[in-house]
Amino acid sequence: MKENFNNKIIFVTGGVVSSLGKGIASASIAALLELHGLKVSFLKLDPYINIDPGTMSPQQHGEVFVTEDGAETDLDLGHYERFSDAVMSKKNNYTAGKIYHAVLEKERQGFYLGNTVQVIPHITNEIQDRIVDVAKESDVTLVEIGGTVGDIESLPFLEAIRQLSHKLPQKQTIFIHLTLIPWIPTASELKSKPTQHSVNKLREIGIQPDILLCRTQKTLPQELRAKISQFTNVPIETVIAAQDTDPIYNVPMQFQKEQLDLQILRALDLPQKTISLHRWQQIVDTCKNPNDTVKIAIVGKYTETKDAYKSLQEALIHGGIQHNLKIESHYISANELEEQDVATTLSSFHSILVPGGFGKRGTNGKMKAIQFARENKIPLLGICLGMHLAIIEYARNVLGWKEASSTEFQKTNYPIIDLMEEQKKQKDLGGTMRLGNYKAILAKDSLLASIYQTDQIQARHRHRYEFNNLYKNELIQAGLKITGVNPDLNLVEAIEIQNHPWFIAVQYHPEFTSKPYQPSPLFASFVKAAYEYKQTLAKK
Ligand code: GLN
Repeated sequence: MKENFNNKIIFVTGGVVSSLGKGIASASIAALLELHGLKVSFLKLDPYINIDPGTMSPQQHGEVFVTEDGAETDLDLGHYERFSDAVMSKKNNYTAGKIYHAVLEKERQGFYLGNTVQVIPHITNEIQDRIVDVAKESDVTLVEIGGTVGDIESLPFLEAIRQLSHKLPQKQTIFIHLTLIPWIPTASELKSKPTQHSVNKLREIGIQPDILLCRTQKTLPQELRAKISQFTNVPIETVIAAQDTDPIYNVPMQFQKEQLDLQILRALDLPQKTISLHRWQQIVDTCKNPNDTVKIAIVGKYTETKDAYKSLQEALIHGGIQHNLKIESHYISANELEEQDVATTLSSFHSILVPGGFGKRGTNGKMKAIQFARENKIPLLGICLGMHLAIIEYARNVLGWKEASSTEFQKTNYPIIDLMEEQKKQKDLGGTMRLGNYKAILAKDSLLASIYQTDQIQARHRHRYEFNNLYKNELIQAGLKITGVNPDLNLVEAIEIQNHPWFIAVQYHPEFTSKPYQPSPLFASFVKAAYEYKQTLAKK
């Protein structure tokens, strides 16, 4: 264990219930600390057994966020990147499964010779090594423990952070606990009891929080702060209100008003600066006072889970911020669309987005939406699977290749989307994904190049199937434009079509690199196109 470092660590835990927004809280703290001139990083520790969330359904776990080095990670890493300048990598998210896997591999290699391998110290040491590894590289690292205090699964992680903070000098580490102060309507009262219990639970395992972030629906009165402080041993100045707010980009300002940044800096013995939150103020002002609204249909498969398309949803909001527009996005179930009259369902929208996805279910519904957008000149953005389907739709309905399909869905005589030869030889599906950053060269006269104002971009990928180059020439002759190509692998990265104001489908995921103050150019342009379409509708 390499403890001879003096970088600071903030441990973030959650209590009472899940989904209180630990990720956004951590990301917002980072935004404030960066304004104080500090280099900030993150580590998300997830107590579940999967090696990573790559194999988990977005329906259950929400979106899988992809880092530039190709890690499939928890969606909180998306919040971290959207709120801060930190760039996440494979080192910034570990699951219990990954930690155990590493320990078991070492055990087989004889690393622990002679010893009984146990949760304490072997698992807890492995966790601490990984925390230190990330913490060494930044002034401050926020280590967020997934789940809720009291869960069986999170115990090794909590024990590891307790040990680490004990080993390091005072003021090098602090504990922030995010908790809930529920409003009980029948009593017209905010209740602190669940928070008292949750802090007790933490203290039972030897962790005394330094700061409490109290999620509430209402303002947190001074008397209640005093009561919470008295029962939890947390000083009243660090009983901080985290009141529900909209948009989420208001959280950094809300925390600053509560002087959370100053309390953290004081606790960690770090210098304070006078900071301006102008950037965040502007974002929030634009969100609250838009010039107009655009209605966007997201035709997808995972429409019941709020977080399944998290980055996408945020990227649309960012595009709206750039053009002073409020985004009203609606999820349309691709499955249900298969049975519906597409015009009835989609006519009221100003643009259509077909996101990424896996498997055949809902693909016909998505293609119906794409055809509707293509024929009616409604702006369309296809992402990843959305690009595959845009090409298949074109082949089927413009070229008349009714059998055109992807080998992901079925055996076909027209495999216009297919695995590459080398992939077909591999047995382990996990190894066949194209993950992380790849280059795309953009065609000079394309809409895409004019949007990005460059002829070369890097973008994140997460997919297995590719456009089959054997069909390239015939599709181009029929009016499909290949406007982005990866030069190293000769793979199609983007397509457009002729005689349409805005129809772009890309193999990569532009949503993962969009920030509120630096929107993805593609999303910003898509939102603008939706607004222009809305205006043409008004003139009709
Ligand atoms: N299922 C497709 C593939 O694996 C697309 C993946 C995605 O949309 N992320 O290639």
